[in-house]
Amino acid sequence: MARRTKIYEGKAKILYEGPEPGTLVQYFKDDATAFNAEKRDVIEGKGVLNNRLSEFFMLGLQAVGIPTHFMKRLNMREQLVRSCEIIPLEVIVRNYAAGSMSKRLGIEEGTQLSRPVVEYCYKDDSLGDPLVSEEHIAAFGWASQQDMEDVLSLALRVNDYLSGVMYAVGIRLVDFKIEIGRVYEGDFQRLVIADEISPDSCRLWDIETGRKLDKDVFRRDLGSLTDAYSEVARRLGILQSSNITTAPTVVK
Ligand code: UDP
Repeated sequence: MARRTKIYEGKAKILYEGPEPGTLVQYFKDDATAFNAEKRDVIEGKGVLNNRLSEFFMLGLQAVGIPTHFMKRLNMREQLVRSCEIIPLEVIVRNYAAGSMSKRLGIEEGTQLSRPVVEYCYKDDSLGDPLVSEEHIAAFGWASQQDMEDVLSLALRVNDYLSGVMYAVGIRLVDFKIEIGRVYEGDFQRLVIADEISPDSCRLWDIETGRKLDKDVFRRDLGSLTDAYSEVARRLGILQSSNITTAPTVVK
């Protein structure tokens, strides 16, 4: 069997050359990293859950008319995606203060923001993905003015969709990160949501209890990450309850 070509290996995923030109296979690893990879572990089953969850969100976005790179899920850990040119920005949307925003501005975690706040970080691990302004983005040519108008509109549409889907299952969407890519069609380019959308890249809090159901469980040692991600998948109807490992109960 021919060995496939690895295009890129990141912290949580590997990209392989796809079967057709313009396609890639995105493989979800079990590796978890935080604090710019200073904390790392292998969490069995995380890749499988994120593959399914990201498929669910990408299909949902497409159903409401938001273009994504997702084409189809291939198996437990892999999905076929359209190859695109990634804009080197992490686009963060926040509905409540948490994480780096709370630290930077001294705002208590969980404070509701009066409107969604969109932030941009320059994607460069060696610099720790620094926060940048639109002035930097324009001056360094990372994206055009038109790109940035489209990026902002996409980010807010994704926020509306994800907030609604989560709210419907009793989860608060505190914040999330997306990456956006350019695809070329003849002489035209358009922007699509790329990478992944999963509890690795969102903050998700149970509305009633405040329980964290996202990667903060790993970052802050709050218990089992797969239990948290499985809970999100179960509520969204992606996992049957019977698939989830639960403590045995006494049958009377
Ligand atoms: N995020 C991410 N990848 C990153 C940085 C942030 O997916 O490299 C997500 C993170 O999970 C959270 C949101 O973006 O949902 C905002 O993260 P924040 O800036 O608060 O940084 P953190 O506290 O995670 O360092």
